[in-house]
Amino acid sequence: MPSTPPEPLPQNIVADLRAALPADALLTDPADCLPYGYDNSRRVACPQAVALPTTTEQVAAVVKACHTHQVPVVTRGRATNTVGGTVPIHGGLVLSLERMAQIIAIRPDDRLAEVEAGVINGELQTALGEHGFFWPPDPTSAGYSSVGGNLACNAAGPRAVKYGTCRDNVLGLQFVDGRGRIINTGVYTTKGVVGYDLTRLMVGSEGTLGIITKAVLAITPVAEEKRTLRGLYDSVTTAGDAVARIMAQPEIPCALEFIDTASIEVIRNNVRDAEVDLPPDAAAMLMIEVDGSADAIGPAMAAVEAAARGPGLVELKTATTADEIAALWQTRKALSPALRKLAPKKINEDVVVPVSRMPELIDGLGKLSAEHKVRIVNFGHAGNGNLHVNLLGEEADLPRMHTCLDAVFDLVLQLEGTLSGEHGVGIEKRPFIAREISGDALDLMRSLKGVFDPAGIMNPGKLLPD
Ligand SMILES: Cc1cc2nc3c(=O)[nH]c(=O)nc-3n(C[C@H](O)[C@H](O)[C@H](O)COP(=O)(O)OP(=O)(O)OC[C@H]3O[C@@H](n4cnc5c(N)ncnc54)[C@H](O)[C@@H]3O)c2cc1C
Repeated sequence: MPSTPPEPLPQNIVADLRAALPADALLTDPADCLPYGYDNSRRVACPQAVALPTTTEQVAAVVKACHTHQVPVVTRGRATNTVGGTVPIHGGLVLSLERMAQIIAIRPDDRLAEVEAGVINGELQTALGEHGFFWPPDPTSAGYSSVGGNLACNAAGPRAVKYGTCRDNVLGLQFVDGRGRIINTGVYTTKGVVGYDLTRLMVGSEGTLGIITKAVLAITPVAEEKRTLRGLYDSVTTAGDAVARIMAQPEIPCALEFIDTASIEVIRNNVRDAEVDLPPDAAAMLMIEVDGSADAIGPAMAAVEAAARGPGLVELKTATTADEIAALWQTRKALSPALRKLAPKKINEDVVVPVSRMPELIDGLGKLSAEHKVRIVNFGHAGNGNLHVNLLGEEADLPRMHTCLDAVFDLVLQLEGTLSGEHGVGIEKRPFIAREISGDALDLMRSLKGVFDPAGIMNPGKLLPD
């Protein structure tokens, strides 16, 4: 908890902000502002004010005032990010998009949807489902994270292996830059090459270049059929080999999730037997989903099943009904709650390596776990090489856990990987990104930021190192 409330903003700035917003849309009492100082990183810093705009024009007027007075602006979707992205560490204003949550249009013929940035991902999916469509990004937080937040973090989930991330599923944006200018980027078409691609630059920029207020999203028809497979293997190596075989053949699964031996042990020891069903020789698991038309699903499943079979396979189970599918996912879903109970301190990373290097990553993580005496549990989106690496311990273990994490990042980079596949950088990973991005590339990024945000007011202290 912050020990003292922040300094109030000077009256002239508050007056300019009030003039930019409807009567009930500016909070300045610290008791009202504090709930906007948290996010899922468990950090907190109370903002000096909170703006709740309802239009892009109001957002632009607020940012203009902040630009004039050099007040930091932290954009907030629903604050589910895990990296401190919405915590106002330098004070200033939190601008929440919770009142800009309209679905403007769903146009199946054009395969697009136009939305305000504050719309909740899950609400959009429900509305699209009525038209037989979906928007591919499916973070586990879909029920409560915003499309703007998803875009700002380039969020994704299991479906990314076949359908891509936010960056692959956005056609255009409206955003407000750091001077308060309203900028429209991109197209309403599935092709377009006019000008620089500012749309995809904004995706993943974590609120440091501007505030996304609207988005034109590429939507996809829901496949007629879906089948689920659970493959159990006798080691992480044989499971890793199966991932490589599956990804090397033409039928791309719509989910390819992995859990390692340590995760299986957690499930065995911390979940009641009745809730999961794991043979004793299972040491790694793949959850595989395949979708397609009624005609194509049979051959697609046969191809993926054939690739999943191989040395070390302990059991391959297929489900076709909703109940069977839920039963197969039960083992995977039992993992997170079990982990939560297990360790008071957990560092959860989301590193990525090329799929072919997953076995080396798993092997290296095992060695680091032994060397640093830190329990490491891994699971994640194997089809993208994206692994959630969980370092577990107690308060007293934290220094060792952080030394181990440092070595984990070095290992990932040695394997041609990247430090974050979906959670982003925020505050948490900022000290490490110069290991991945060269000094010249960082300079170029800082120059770009200066063009979008000359006063440096957009989410200061996040993403780029000083
Ligand atoms: C239980 C749980 C499960 C999760 N699972 C996944 C997962 O499977 N995959 C995944 O990718 N992530 C996951 N996340 C992380 C998080 O949900 C995502 O990063 C999500 O995209 C954040 O959306 P939000 O609306 O909460 O954004 P916020 O947390 O509010 O903001 C995130 C960042 O984006 C910026 N931002 C927000 N809105 C805008 C905007 N309109 N314009 C410009 N910048 C903006 C913020 O300043 C901040 O830097 C999970 C989180 C939780 C709590």
